[in-house]
Amino acid sequence: MDFTLPPKVDALRTEIRAFVAEEIMPLERDRANYDGHENIRPDLLEHLRGKAKEAGLWAIQMPEARGGRGLSLAEMAACYEEMGRSIFGPVVFNSAAPDDGNMMVLNKVGTDAQQRDWLQPIVEGRVRSAFAMTEPDGGAGSDPGMMRTRAERKGDRYVIEGRKWFITGAGVAEHFIVVARTSDDARKGLTAFLFYRDQPGWEIVRKVPIMGPEEHGGHCELVFDGLEIPAENVLIGEGEGLKLTQIRLGPARLTHCMRWLGMAKRALEIAGDYARERSGFGVKLADRESIQLLLGTAAMQIEIGRLLTMKAAWKLDTGDFARKEISMAKVQAADALQTTVDTAIQICGAKGYSQDTPLEWMYRYARQARLVDGASEVHRMVVSRFLMQEGLDYWSWP
Ligand SMILES: Cc1cc2nc3c(=O)[nH]c(=O)nc-3n(C[C@H](O)[C@H](O)[C@H](O)COP(=O)(O)OP(=O)(O)OC[C@H]3O[C@@H](n4cnc5c(N)ncnc54)[C@H](O)[C@@H]3O)c2cc1C
Repeated sequence: MDFTLPPKVDALRTEIRAFVAEEIMPLERDRANYDGHENIRPDLLEHLRGKAKEAGLWAIQMPEARGGRGLSLAEMAACYEEMGRSIFGPVVFNSAAPDDGNMMVLNKVGTDAQQRDWLQPIVEGRVRSAFAMTEPDGGAGSDPGMMRTRAERKGDRYVIEGRKWFITGAGVAEHFIVVARTSDDARKGLTAFLFYRDQPGWEIVRKVPIMGPEEHGGHCELVFDGLEIPAENVLIGEGEGLKLTQIRLGPARLTHCMRWLGMAKRALEIAGDYARERSGFGVKLADRESIQLLLGTAAMQIEIGRLLTMKAAWKLDTGDFARKEISMAKVQAADALQTTVDTAIQICGAKGYSQDTPLEWMYRYARQARLVDGASEVHRMVVSRFLMQEGLDYWSWP
């Protein structure tokens, strides 16, 4: 088993680490650098995005022909962790959700015209994007089969009626992917469409207030009331919405894991620094076995998440859907993030609960990890299904 990184990837990882430490992390300390979403202020973001482009650290997940660095998912994992070290990191490099997942799926399945018109502007950072699948009031959530939003074909167009919610980034997105029902077929009943913000027939009815910091544009509730989409803006084909969703969500879940593990490492770094400095009752915190157990347990949880993430990334790179591997990584990375941030706050005492470190921001942000892109229970159900179907082959070597 060879865990070494290719030298060119390690060099890129090191460059990202330095950029994050020198250009991005210093901004975290001053709340004046935050916007209403508790994210990096848009003018600062634009400035840093320009610098990341100049440094060749931009959209590294995209092919070189599109302006990226053409990394595999396993190579991305090492770099995304470094970006995740800062709460502002991923978006500066154009590697944040939901643009990241939207770019990867459009790059994989879009026609030449769709890639030119819908993908390339996102890659270049000229527009932001959103992915609209989840519905309120008993519609599609964990089970996409519950989808109520409908798309009815009328000549060379589809007309969309329905409601979506929790659509990340919708407040600033120009390019949208929406999944709607085109028939009642269990496997081939859903279809994915592309639409622009300025098309008539839909609106944002509210920004859903949430407990934590959020991506630019927030999480919005959308109502579709006669949005007309030309047939050429169907992704893959009519009835392929479920397949499109699987293709998008696999890598998107895994890049969440990569960023979250970077965030968890940072939380442990902050806790370690505090424990090394702080003394009480004549002993440094770091020298107390009870604190060492906390630090060691958290480090192990992060490392388990990294190994699962790397294995799933490698399997996706071989062309496999890697469904059980991604589900295991998603559950573990989400848990590792939440427990590590909680541990870090405990070790830092009152300082951990203050806004003098990013820990309280991370604590509120981390709670979504066990829900977004599939609740942990659903991923455990997927893992269990594979175990029951595959028996001993579940553990087989490729
Ligand atoms: C911060 C955030 C951002 C999001 N961004 C987007 C976005 O950009 N686009 C988008 O389309 N959606 C988005 N979502 C929605 C997200 O993907 C859904 O919340 C998720 O799929 C779960 O669906 P639900 O909320 O309807 O939960 P439900 O389906 O109502 O499930 C509720 C709970 O029931 C339990 N449960 C469900 N199924 C099972 C099962 N099979 N076995 C055991 N227990 C089960 C789980 O505990 C689950 O948490 C976002 C959500 C959050 C929190």
